[in-house]
Amino acid sequence: MFYKQFSTIIDLLNPEFVENFDYWLATLPRNNQKNITASVVSSRLGVKYSLAESILKFAEKQHILERYYLVKCPDCDYNLDTITKDEIADILINPVFCDECEEEKKITLDDIYTAYKVIQQADVTEDEIARAIEKRLNQGEGSGTNFIEADSLSNDKTTLYEAFYNPSESAYGKFAELRDKLDLDYGKNTTAQGKALEVLVLEMFNHIKGVRATNDVKTETNQFDCTCLCGFKTVFPSIFSYMAPYFIIECKNEPKKTPNNTYCNKLLSIMDTNEAQIGIVFGRKNATGPCFTISREHYLKHSESRRQQIIITCSDDDLEYLIDKRVNLLEYMEYKILQVTANTPNATYEMFVKDKCG
Ligand SMILES: [Zn+2]
Repeated sequence: MFYKQFSTIIDLLNPEFVENFDYWLATLPRNNQKNITASVVSSRLGVKYSLAESILKFAEKQHILERYYLVKCPDCDYNLDTITKDEIADILINPVFCDECEEEKKITLDDIYTAYKVIQQADVTEDEIARAIEKRLNQGEGSGTNFIEADSLSNDKTTLYEAFYNPSESAYGKFAELRDKLDLDYGKNTTAQGKALEVLVLEMFNHIKGVRATNDVKTETNQFDCTCLCGFKTVFPSIFSYMAPYFIIECKNEPKKTPNNTYCNKLLSIMDTNEAQIGIVFGRKNATGPCFTISREHYLKHSESRRQQIIITCSDDDLEYLIDKRVNLLEYMEYKILQVTANTPNATYEMFVKDKCG
């Protein structure tokens, strides 16, 4: 082994593949030590894409490789930019100028590719590498493109969600602080009591890039607690397809009351007359069973129409996931929607957590 880190996983993955990968990586010429993608590893070493992905992620954790994202022009394939995860949301929201085409381009997930570069050289001498290369000289490098569709972000929802929702340490501190205020003694000031939950919910949803949440929107007939405009949409199914163009949230800071049908029905009647596809009832206790039934029936009624209408209900239990366990809000909303669309009210979030290798 050139990289001793790989000896710890040799028995977990295919041993021959791990050895081949170790050799391949250690002997890559300097100018090929970037733009490494899962498709390259998969084709050069003849393994499944998912296996290639796992070992790249492992090497990243071991600080052998560093992950970055390459933005390509949708029309001329020119490399527009190399970005970090934090910059993905911006690139997707704002057009980028292509020097080759000499015009602004709208970047989609298909134009952003996950790639790696070597940041830690193998712990061996040039001589050892030269000898190893000689031994396997006939395993040529091959040429061709490093980037295929499988490497693009349209196949990587987790990264997309992390790029759009990634509260800092202090943001999580603020969430916890605001949650503590839910149970202060508000006496007869029910407005202040109600506002406390609205403030927390707005704070959390405003941390989604591309979403602007406000409690100032009034219609002719209604005032919504929170209206969240979502300026980003994906072509493939993701939580963003539901969130656009906007969604609404009703907050009920009633520690002892269970949200009942009335709240669901109110939200549904509002959604019947606007463009929102998701409505969220945010209470403190878990909503009643009939709420779920109403939500489910409403989903079925609208599932074939131009837009979806889905009600989800959230409570203190969900805040625990979002604040204490720091579950990604977008991933979590996707799970809450799945409960309704798959008719599985008792499915837990844990059931859907993907195995994260390495
Ligand atoms: Zn171009």
